[in-house]
Amino acid sequence: MGEYSLKCPKCGSVFEDKYTNSCPDGCSSLIKAEYKQKKLRIRDLPGMFRYHDWLPVEDCRNVGTKPVTYKSRELSRELGIKNLYICFNGYNPDINAAVKSCSFKELEAVPTMLRMKEKGSGIIQVSSAGNTARAFCEVSAATGMPVIAVVPKYAKDNIWTTVPAGDVLMITVDGDYTDAIEFGNRLCSINGVVAEGGAKNPARRDGMGTTLLDCAVAAGRIPDWYFQAVGSGTGAIAAFEMSERLIEDGRYGGKLPRLYLSQNDVFAPIVNAWKERRREIIPDKDMPDAKNSAMKAYSPVLTNRTPPYSVFGGLFDALTATDGITVPVPRDKAESAGKLFEEVEGPDLDPAAAVCLASLLDVSEKGTFKPEDTVMLNITGGGYRRAREDFDIIKVNPSFEASAGDDISKISSDVAKWVKRYV
Ligand SMILES: *Cc1c(COP(=O)(O)O)cnc(C)c1O
Ligand SMILES: [Zn+2]
Repeated sequence: MGEYSLKCPKCGSVFEDKYTNSCPDGCSSLIKAEYKQKKLRIRDLPGMFRYHDWLPVEDCRNVGTKPVTYKSRELSRELGIKNLYICFNGYNPDINAAVKSCSFKELEAVPTMLRMKEKGSGIIQVSSAGNTARAFCEVSAATGMPVIAVVPKYAKDNIWTTVPAGDVLMITVDGDYTDAIEFGNRLCSINGVVAEGGAKNPARRDGMGTTLLDCAVAAGRIPDWYFQAVGSGTGAIAAFEMSERLIEDGRYGGKLPRLYLSQNDVFAPIVNAWKERRREIIPDKDMPDAKNSAMKAYSPVLTNRTPPYSVFGGLFDALTATDGITVPVPRDKAESAGKLFEEVEGPDLDPAAAVCLASLLDVSEKGTFKPEDTVMLNITGGGYRRAREDFDIIKVNPSFEASAGDDISKISSDVAKWVKRYV
């Protein structure tokens, strides 16, 4: 199962996976998995492992985590788009959507943790203010694979699981998201604690890329348009990379989808840089007063200040290759889009998904695409209300509480002891 090697797209060198997340020759690039299987098989395996051929893992786990794509009737009529496919990543038992942490971050967590177990030699460490940490904790709870989560203190109520999480070590930091990231980085100096790697990690990208695969399989072809709200842009890079694999497969068409990406209007570095077709994000120009404007954003998960935009094989390259479009979305439009989705489709949306739908509502008014175009709407999160009804929501208790800027000396021996239980 799962035969692959890793390749640097910049220098072309091919190498074996030792939980490698960067080019061994030192290139600044996003390394990619190269799969032996060039024609995608739909495997009879649990959840997202149906796309096992194109995930950088050997084994699988019994999880329900998977995207669910369906052709929308209601919303399609509402928008006047005939071939609208909704890729729902969240919880909605009516359509067998079983992402219990309610966002597509769970699609990243599953292969990332399994890859660490198979190819790494440590315990994965994630820093996050919400969806990512919750996803990793849920997968840990479901599979028994351990994780160290570092979250800002204000976000600790966002971190819950639907089954008890006995293999999570959570640390809160009394500061903002950046303080949590910095504390998490310091933890990785402890033997056996390994950073998950973010967008550089091919397992994260290919996990998210299963959304595009799921849509292509449902529609029988690569969509003409890929709609997503972006913070880091990892999901969009993933959709681009999977489309390239599908083109090589040959059965899903030969054209890349055009990426149609959205951000909060008050915090839109990717939108602003791409508007001028610039490879570099200029902080003062593209995200002035970053800290305050991020706080005003309707969807905080989209306020990444250091997206993998300029890096070789990153978002700028993906937007260039796909003739992409980026748009800002105001709060009121996102709010009404979220309400519309609830009325016609049922589930409540993650604010980020509402931003994305708002961008689609806007373009369908202006008629940018042809009525027969196939459109993929990536609903990156939703179904929280139903999840709260159906499950006991168990808050993850922090094992340690740190202050911003703290060094790790106070807790390092305890963390090391915890790590030794697993490695
Ligand atoms: C993280 C997240 C996004 C943004 O994804 P990126 O890959 O960081 O661009 C969008 N929607 C939801 C619900 C998320 O959790
Ligand atoms: Zn290289």
